[in-house]
Amino acid sequence: MITIDPNKTYLIDLDGTMYRGNQVIPEAVTFMQMLQKHHVNYVFVTNNATRTAKQNLQHMETLGFTNLKESDFFTSAMAAVLYMKKHSDARYVYAIGEAGLTEAIAKGGYELDEQRAELVFVGLMHNADYSLYSKAARILRQNHAILVGTNQDRRIPDGDAFSIGNGAIIEMLKYASEAETVMIGKPNSPMMEEVLSYVGKTKAECIMIGDNLETDIAFAKDNGLFSIMVCSGVHTKKDALSFRVQSDEVIASLNELSIK
Ligand SMILES: [Mg+2]
Repeated sequence: MITIDPNKTYLIDLDGTMYRGNQVIPEAVTFMQMLQKHHVNYVFVTNNATRTAKQNLQHMETLGFTNLKESDFFTSAMAAVLYMKKHSDARYVYAIGEAGLTEAIAKGGYELDEQRAELVFVGLMHNADYSLYSKAARILRQNHAILVGTNQDRRIPDGDAFSIGNGAIIEMLKYASEAETVMIGKPNSPMMEEVLSYVGKTKAECIMIGDNLETDIAFAKDNGLFSIMVCSGVHTKKDALSFRVQSDEVIASLNELSIK
C-alpha cells in the first residue's frame, strides 16, 4: 500500500488511468471517492484536445464518476492557448481541431483569419483530410506562422490496435512547412508551466498519476515532479524497467493507494 498525502495536489491522467476509452476502470471510481471524502486537491491533466471540459465531465459522469466539476479538467488545448497568450503577441490564428481546441481558442480571444494567421494550432481532428492539412502547411509557410501542437502523442490506443496520434500529424506538417514548432502537451514543459499556474501550486506540492511512460511519467520526471505510474493503460511494469526515466512508484492498480 502506498499512502496518499492529503496536503498534495494530484495531477491525474484520464485515458488509461480513469477509464479506457468508453470503459470505466472501477478502482478509479473508488479512488476518486476517497480523494473527495478526504478533501484532497486534484485536477485531471489530459493531452486529449478534442473534448471541452464540459464534454470531459459528461464522459466521466456517464462512466459513473460523481461530484466532479468542469474546472477539474485541464486539457492540452487549454494549455496551448494560455501558453501562447503569454509567449506571443499574435492575434490572428488558424486551427485544425475539434470542440476542445476551438472553444479554447475562442475563450482566448483569438481571431480566426487564414490570411493573417500568425499561429496555426493543431489538435486531433478525426475527419480532417489531405486538403485541410495541405492548407495548414501553406498558411504556415506563406505567413511564416508558428505551428502549435496541442500534444505529440505518437499513437492512440484503439482496442487491441492503435490509431495515429496528433504528434505524428504535427511531424508531417512540420516537415512539409519547415515552420517553427511549439509542442504543448505532456511531456513538454509548457503543459507543466500552465497546469501549475492553473492550480496555483509549486512542483513540490504536486504529484502526477498516469499510465503512460512517454507522456505522464516523462512529464513528471523531466519537470521535477513526483510520479506514480499505474499499469492500467498503455504501459506495463516491464516497460517501466526499461524506460529512460524511472517512476517514483509503480502500481498495478489505483486500489494500491490509500489515505491514513
Ligand atoms: Mg493515459
